[in-house]
Parts: sequence; C-alpha cells; structure tokens
Amino acid sequence: MTMNTTTENLYGKNFIAGEWTSAARTVPNINPSDVTDIVGEFASADHGEVEQAIAAARQAFPTWALCPAQKRADILFKTAQLLTSNAGRIGTLLSREQGRPRPEAEGEVVRAAQIFAFFAGEVVRATGEIFPSTRPGAEVLVSREPIGVVAAITPWNVPIAIPAWKIAPALAYGNCMVLKPAELVPASALELVRILQEAGLPAGVLNLVMGSGSTIGPQLLDSPDIDAVSFTGSIATGKKIAAAAVAGGKKVQAEMGGKSGLVVLNDANLDIAIDCAIDGAFFWTGQRCTASSRLIVARGIYDEFVDRMIARMKTLRIDHAQKEGTEIGPVVDERQLAQNQRYIEIAKADGGEVIGGQRLQRDTQGFYMEPALILNTSNGMRINQEEVFGPVTSVLKVADYEEALMVANDTRFGLSSGICTDSLHHSTHFRRHSLAGTVAVNLTTTGSEYHVPFGGRKSSSYGAREQGRYAMDFYTAIKTSYVRA
Ligand code: NAD
Repeated sequence: MTMNTTTENLYGKNFIAGEWTSAARTVPNINPSDVTDIVGEFASADHGEVEQAIAAARQAFPTWALCPAQKRADILFKTAQLLTSNAGRIGTLLSREQGRPRPEAEGEVVRAAQIFAFFAGEVVRATGEIFPSTRPGAEVLVSREPIGVVAAITPWNVPIAIPAWKIAPALAYGNCMVLKPAELVPASALELVRILQEAGLPAGVLNLVMGSGSTIGPQLLDSPDIDAVSFTGSIATGKKIAAAAVAGGKKVQAEMGGKSGLVVLNDANLDIAIDCAIDGAFFWTGQRCTASSRLIVARGIYDEFVDRMIARMKTLRIDHAQKEGTEIGPVVDERQLAQNQRYIEIAKADGGEVIGGQRLQRDTQGFYMEPALILNTSNGMRINQEEVFGPVTSVLKVADYEEALMVANDTRFGLSSGICTDSLHHSTHFRRHSLAGTVAVNLTTTGSEYHVPFGGRKSSSYGAREQGRYAMDFYTAIKTSYVRA
C-alpha cells in the first residue's frame, strides 16, 4: 500500500490481525460543517469482530513483547515520519469529520507525529534499577515489563493525538492493543492505524474496532484477555469503566472532564488575559477537557475585562471548518449543540445574563453557534459545576486573590487551572495551592506538551498519568528480582 492515496477503500472496515476486514454493519459519518457531506460509511463492529481483535492482540503479544528495541523504535519513528508527510491530507480529513479549523487539525496530526518520535526514543531509554541486597551475597534488580493487551477507548474531541498518546507508549514498552475510537471520528483513527501498518507494525499488535461504546466497551472490559484499559472521555463513562476494570482486576487509567478556572487579577496584563480567555474558552469550539469554562475575575478589573471580551467575541470568525480564515468551527454534532443550548437555558433560569450563544446560519447547513459569555452567576450554580463542553463560559466576579483561589478550587473537577497576574507571589501561591493536575501562569489553561505528564486530580482523573516518560508507569509492570550473586 502506498501513502498519499485515498483510504476510502478501507472505509467500512475494521483492522484485525493485520487485515482490513469488512464489518457486518456500517454507519454514516457526517461533516458537522455541512450535514449534506457524508465523509463515509464506517464500521460498527459486532461481538464476533471484537472477539477476533482481542484474540489477535493476545496472539501477537509474546512475540511483540520480545521484539528487539531497535525494531520497535524504527516502527514508531517511521510512523512519525509518515504522519508528518501526510499531515495536510489527514488534517483536512480530521477537520472535515470533527469540525476543527483545518490549520489546527493539521497541527494535531503533527502533534501525533511528535508523540511517536518521542516514544521511538523512549523505547531504548526505558530503564531498571539495581539495589544492594539486605541479604549477604545477593543483589536486587527492579525491571519493567509490558503489561500485555491494552484496550484504548478514546473521545471525539482529539481524534488523532489522544489515540497516538495511548498507542505510542503502549507499543514502545512492548504491549499489544485494541483501539476503540469514538463513533464521531472513525476516519482519523483509521488513518492513524493505516500509517502504523505502513510503518511495518506486525499483524495483531494493534487492532482497530469501530462502533458503539456502550456495546464494544463492556465487551472489552469483560474480556479476560484484556489486561489494562486506557480511557479518555466523560466522567459518566469513565466511572463505569474504572469500576468494571477494577472488578475484573485490570489496570486502568481514566482521563475525564473538567471545569477549569482561569483567574484574572487586577494586576494582570489584560492583552494576555483576554487572549488566554478567548483561546481557552472558545477556540476548538470550547470542546476541550481543559477549556477555561470559568473566568474568575477580580472586582477591580472586571468591567474592563467583560467589555474587552465582548468586543473580541464580535470579531471571531465562526464558519465552515475548511474555509480559509475560520477561527472557530461548528459544534461536533446536533446532540452536543443541544447540550450547549440546554446549559445556556439553565444558566438563564438561575439568573445568569447570557451574551451571545445563539445558533448561527452559514452558507452550509452545520451545527454553528456563537460563543456564550455568562455574567451574574455564582460558583455553586449548575453552569459552573457541570461540564458543558461547548463555547460557553461564565465570568465570576471575586473580591481578591484569596477568593479567586477558593472559587477556582471549588469544583469536583481538577484537570487544569490558570492565573493571569504580574505578581510573583500570587502566581507562585496559586501554582502551589491550585487543586488541578495542570496549572498555567499567564498562559491558556488548554496548553499541554507531549514530553511531560498530562492529567488531572479529583473526579477528572483516575490512575497513572499519561504522556512523557511518566506514561511508563501505566504501560509497564514492575518486577523485582532477587539474585544470588
Ligand atoms: P464519552 O465518555 O461519551 O466517550 C468516550 C469514549 O467512550 C468513546 O469512544 C465512547 O464510544 C466510549 N464509551 C461510551 N460508553 C461506553 C461504555 N459504557 N463503556 C466503554 N466505552 C464507552 O466522551 P466523549 O463525548 O467522546 O468525549 C468528551 C469528554 O471527554 C468530555 O468530558 C471531555 O472533557 C473528555 N476529555 C478528557 C480528556 C482528558 O485527557 N482529561 C481529553 C479529551 C476529552
């Protein structure tokens, strides 16, 4: 198979044991920028297909676990190269099926490439330790081994980089996999798997089953041949998955939702604060787990902050994701759009004042809406305690830094947080006392980099961190060996 050619001949298929196999059932995938554009018909795997995928991974595991590190590194590095050279084409497809503006979609493919390149290096860097023994004439070795077959269950909002940040470390450390991507973004997952195949991944090491989470998910969790589950998605699903995994004795990590607070103090550089707030709350249509969905603003700067937010919101170009110059694409689908509108109504009913938030008409029929800025709410209201997952954010007025910190932490979520201030004292204090897994100072709450750990606290996360070399903690099992020297 040569790259840069169409993948449409693979649509409707799962990837099992190194073969693209036609699924018994397919479902259409619709472009949210233009509902008349059907991206394609994609597989919806049945029970038997999922069983075959698990069996293929189990069968491939002993060989892949012992595969020389150089070969694993070469395959991951080649994957990075192929993703880079195909970033334009795959980015366009991602943009078409998910609604992210094309340049950002291409950026996500490049990020996936960087993740594979990073883990190509990690393959040969994985280390153990040698300890002195407390017993005479012995020594103790601590080494890491693959855990076995990992199921990866991924969300629709980051269709290629999230699968990449699960697949790359899993394969680097010698595990086999079954990937179940979100129903809304099958094409991106298919492209990624096809590239891994092109890069020379042996049959069965990575298997792709597409379709419904509520049927495939429980099957993966019930299978005795799945050793671990890496999940990213909503809290509701993550809780079920974590409970089922623990009951079945599987290792599990779950990265879930957020309600991130961005604090803006009186001494903040307002240009930076507005940039952080607009990007963090509205770019990617607000469909980021780390979105700044609560803007916590000190009283002295509140009025100016709100005026400048409203002025900036008027300039945002919301349109078809593949159109040149679009800054914000459509909402991903009708269901999510309805959820966004429902939360706006809830905020209004609770006394909130809503600026923007209307549905928009564009040249094509898609799921367009204006970003919404919600004023006059308190932190205890539903709009500030539940994840909306759209371009909807509240501005909460606070008296001072102390109240801002308290409000930022007053949530069951703990994924990310941020502060805009020129005060070293307040930024340092916030960094230390924020109950979030990621803290941003004078930067958007949404930024993350591939070489350092990513994950949350409280209800936002369960289990080991993802990304960077910390990923090793999930994807390896530790063995302690006592040796008579
Ligand atoms: P979701 O929970 O609806 O679905 C996620 C995945 O789980 C999908 O593949 C889905 O098919 C599958 N699934 C659904 N029901 C299942 C079940 N019963 N058993 C097993 N799998 C099942 O989430 P979504 O709507 O795709 O994604 C949006 C959510 O993801 C938001 O809450 C967002 O905050 C979160 N998210 C978190 C992170 C993070 O790293 N913390 C990153 C991106 C998105």
